[in-house]
Amino acid sequence: MIDAHVHVERGPYTADWIQRFVDQALAVGLDELCLLEHSHRFVEFSELYEPVRNFDRYQEDWYARRAGKRIGEYLDLVAEMRKSSFPIRLRWGLEVCWLPGAAKVLESLDARNSFDFVTGSIHWLDGWGFDHKKERWNGRDVNELYRRYFELELDLLHSGLFDHVAHPDSIKCFGHYPEYDLEPTYARVAEAAMTAKVAFEQSCGLRNNYGHETLGLDRNFLAALRARGVPLLTASDAHRPEDVGKNLKEAAALLAADAETPPCRAGSRLPAIGEEK
Ligand SMILES: [Zn+2]
Ligand SMILES: [Zn+2]
Repeated sequence: MIDAHVHVERGPYTADWIQRFVDQALAVGLDELCLLEHSHRFVEFSELYEPVRNFDRYQEDWYARRAGKRIGEYLDLVAEMRKSSFPIRLRWGLEVCWLPGAAKVLESLDARNSFDFVTGSIHWLDGWGFDHKKERWNGRDVNELYRRYFELELDLLHSGLFDHVAHPDSIKCFGHYPEYDLEPTYARVAEAAMTAKVAFEQSCGLRNNYGHETLGLDRNFLAALRARGVPLLTASDAHRPEDVGKNLKEAAALLAADAETPPCRAGSRLPAIGEEK
């Protein structure tokens, strides 16, 4: 089993810190572990976050507390760790916020070659962070927010810059749902994912980090992705070693159960990340 999304951000860039993630991964029976960092940590991406910082004081402070590292520090850790061998398949990546300007920065960093995988995610809708606090949704138009979220997800897919999409329906993080039918949206996203050859996460992040009642992708979204043979990756979105693999077995079981219903394209399977482009 794979955990496709684990953050190393809460500790130092040392072999001891990384070993704690590997130990936990082995303890819960994983055979592949994808470690990553958020793009917002690195000064090389700071221009992207200008609309985020300018949105309001809360976001300005939020960003200031997290940013400031140089990507070279992370790349040095990756290079160092690649010299060691681990009893698990260890992959190194970056989770990049889909914001205007992301393409330019990724190209300048040669991200596709510097990392084993690049994950795209949507955390910001025109500068506003939807996944921070429940009360920030007050008075907002849920239908509009859903439309914008999936519009951005389609843009992200069309960019051709990413290997994975992280938590692909995280707009539901605080339990808000639109009044309109999402089926046509799911179909369009699934088509774009298939064309872009991008893997989607079956993410436990909303359960693990928000206490969301459901686990993983919306059932109809999952069916649309399945029907088009989009590869699916179990992911914990852990932000600390003890959360590696959390709820993954249940998430994998949901994938196995749903495979019975919609037809799964022959040959579709969990890909070797970054190798099947
Ligand atoms: Zn994320
Ligand atoms: Zn994440």
